[in-house]
Amino acid sequence: MRAVVGLGSNLQQPERQLRQALDALRAIAEEGVVKASSLYRSPPMGPQDQPDYINAVAVIETVLEPLELLDQLQQIEQQQGRERKRHWGERTLDLDLLLYGDQSIDHPRLQVPHPGITERSFVLLPMQEVLGDMQEIPGQGELGQWVERCNCDEIERVVE
Ligand code: ADP
Ligand code: MG
Repeated sequence: MRAVVGLGSNLQQPERQLRQALDALRAIAEEGVVKASSLYRSPPMGPQDQPDYINAVAVIETVLEPLELLDQLQQIEQQQGRERKRHWGERTLDLDLLLYGDQSIDHPRLQVPHPGITERSFVLLPMQEVLGDMQEIPGQGELGQWVERCNCDEIERVVE
């Protein structure tokens, strides 16, 4: 199954955290990381007294079931020293399962498509880069229409 994973970090060299997470994703996905977006920098959501975030998305090909994949993603977060301090607070690594094929999942531990997709520029722009405007968000129409509507003023692509 094709799955789309959102990556985010704002602690301990965020760009390094994302590179390390991409390596870890390569290890759990049989076909590896099929595609990865550029890195994007944006101001924090929620508490403002924390560093800017670096975000990206990766497309992977996996045989794992959705909850198994979530377990693996959470394990990678733990390996990279994720601590849960406050809601929307700083973190070394956040991995969100954005899309899983064209499935809609509503489970206590897992909602897919990830509920934040349509309003977060740091998810929409990297998704647009790797998936294109025509990508369907199950139950919510095409990606391109959400990108058009989003407030993308404060996000910038990181030039490497
Ligand atoms: P947040 O990303 O909102 O800051 P966490 O990363 O700590 O918060 O995740 C909180 C919970 O969100 C996790 O325990 C997980 O079970 C749940 N969750 C629900 N849907 C998803 C999803 N699509 N991807 C990742 N986690 C999810
Ligand atoms: Mg998360």
